[in-house]
Amino acid sequence: MRKARAPASSKSPPVSAKRKTAASKKMVGGLEDISAQVQVRRHPGARRLTLRISRTSRSVIVTIPVQCDLDEAGTFLSRHIDWVRERLDSLPDPVPFRDSAAMPLRGEPHKIVFTGAPGTRIVSVVAVAGHRPEIRVPGSLDTAPRRLRDWLFEEARRDLGKRVAHHTTALNLKAKRIAVRDQTSRWGSCSTTSILSFSWRLILAPPHILDYVAAHEVAHLAEMNHGPRFWALVAKADPDYAAAKTWLQIYGHDLHRYGASIDGASEA
Ligand SMILES: [Zn+2]
Repeated sequence: MRKARAPASSKSPPVSAKRKTAASKKMVGGLEDISAQVQVRRHPGARRLTLRISRTSRSVIVTIPVQCDLDEAGTFLSRHIDWVRERLDSLPDPVPFRDSAAMPLRGEPHKIVFTGAPGTRIVSVVAVAGHRPEIRVPGSLDTAPRRLRDWLFEEARRDLGKRVAHHTTALNLKAKRIAVRDQTSRWGSCSTTSILSFSWRLILAPPHILDYVAAHEVAHLAEMNHGPRFWALVAKADPDYAAAKTWLQIYGHDLHRYGASIDGASEA
């Protein structure tokens, strides 16, 4: 994941009690108008305080050395609050699952429509002349976001299942099963027990992107590394893999906007 260049303390300067109070007050005032979660992490390897913004979870992460106390983290954060606010403002807006929201599906723009129609729970994609196709979610409006999410998971599972089957056959490998998850740190992974896991958000990307990630994880069934033999297998399965890899680097983080809550509950 790309990390924003962040301020770091050269040393953690001792702060007098008086200054500390002033700083905490300022921090509270400053944090009231930032719409992000702040996470403080104590890290044994950290030698100084650092600050970063997670683009995927839209949260502020302060890493502090073990011996630092929380007040110091607060002081540090408040000192860099303008930087934090600027970075948060530059992030694209999150798009929660709601009626009329625009969202890509298999790389094409769609419109989410919560119809509220009773009697059915079946989500459907409907072409609309002159407009974006609609993803229509019937039933209770309260549970519509949840049902849309479940439907997207199923669609992802189906497409990934097909592509994994295709690549395992082509490369003569065997996957035990596939799992689709809400994971933000990786697009896919392969366990030593041959279980392939994928992010559901791949269903939002163009099909050749999902296909590349499927081929990538299938290739890990033979090579649990990113060495030349691994990449040769990926190239065999997906000759255009380099373009897909670049696409993910440039546009991948944008997919994390969809279905994200404003609070940013999950972590990168
Ligand atoms: Zn890999």
